[in-house]
Amino acid sequence: MAFNIVTKNNIRDRFVSHPRPALWKDTDSKDWNNWIWQQQKRIKSMDVLEKVIHVTDEERQAFAASHEQFNMGITPYYASLIDPNDPNCPIRLQSVPKMGELTILDTEMEDPLAEESNMPVPGITHRYPDRVLFYTTHNCPVYCRHCTRKRKVSDPSSSAANQQLEDGLAYIERTKQIRDVVISGGDALSNSDERLEYILSRLRAMDHIEVFRIATRNLVTLPQRVTDNFAKMLTKYHPVFIHTHFNHPKECTQEAFDACAKLADAGCVINNQMVLLKGVNDDPKIVMELNHKLLMMRVRPYYIFQCDMSQGISHFRTPIEVGLNIIEHLRGWTSGMAVPHFVVDCPGGGGKIPLLPEYVVKREGKKWTFRNYQKKEFVYNEP
Ligand code: SF4
Repeated sequence: MAFNIVTKNNIRDRFVSHPRPALWKDTDSKDWNNWIWQQQKRIKSMDVLEKVIHVTDEERQAFAASHEQFNMGITPYYASLIDPNDPNCPIRLQSVPKMGELTILDTEMEDPLAEESNMPVPGITHRYPDRVLFYTTHNCPVYCRHCTRKRKVSDPSSSAANQQLEDGLAYIERTKQIRDVVISGGDALSNSDERLEYILSRLRAMDHIEVFRIATRNLVTLPQRVTDNFAKMLTKYHPVFIHTHFNHPKECTQEAFDACAKLADAGCVINNQMVLLKGVNDDPKIVMELNHKLLMMRVRPYYIFQCDMSQGISHFRTPIEVGLNIIEHLRGWTSGMAVPHFVVDCPGGGGKIPLLPEYVVKREGKKWTFRNYQKKEFVYNEP
């Protein structure tokens, strides 16, 4: 029997490409699709933002009060995802300042994860035995209003100069228990291809380094950054893991799909680290939709992070029960691949604590009673 292969693959068609705002409707597509143009045209002032969305008085006030400490920066592409008329648009909440940023609670800290106090050399956080966090830039295409590293991100004086980069590489080279390096920032893809390739080539030449992860939100905020040349360059340094940060299904566009496809075709493994944010994704239906879209984009939902205790983000923080409720509505109701780990990154540098709803009803010696996702009870007798 002859098998007629159906070649139609309409996965990409299930994603949308948002229309450009009027400000850029006559921009040449070559420019619009060029990541350097997108970086150069980032929205950094209210004057420009007002040409793209209807800015509220609160946003204007919040910008005036916050932009000296933590800049506003929004790529034209990410701005094209904002609903211009909805002050509660999830893309807008993540990128336009709100007055909540000015509230600092007693429980909040400048550096809640103690990243600065676990630094053997500037630019390296070494907390766990076999892995390090390597800060390579202070820059990001979009400055996320919920950023946990507001203390240094967007501040040019915290930039990783070449000497700091060399000192970090030298530390990794002489510290033989390190097998895994998270190349981070800021956003690691704010580095040029040449600088990033230099870092990757140096790491790959070290016999004790097994894997590295590139931490980037460019797939979400500036997918044009993933060029064919960049993806091809990565193939020389496998295994390469990409850790990204989609927070809402609206961010899963055709442009993001294409960027993920280039990286996946180049052999990269892509994991998503969602941050749980009030008004953005604190609803199981939104997280379910996001995770299904991510899987279609060949991105594995990996973590849901409880909001850190960073200063000025209390308006985003949800009670821990919200995260547990999301897991309760995912586990069993959809494929396990779409169920990430819900974790709290402990203040003070205690590391990530995984949290699950309670599935053990009781234990009597070797007799365990569990409940499943439908709340039905089942007994497991250990032999
Ligand atoms: S991309 Fe990451 S480091 Fe940059 S502002 Fe957003 S959360 Fe912070």
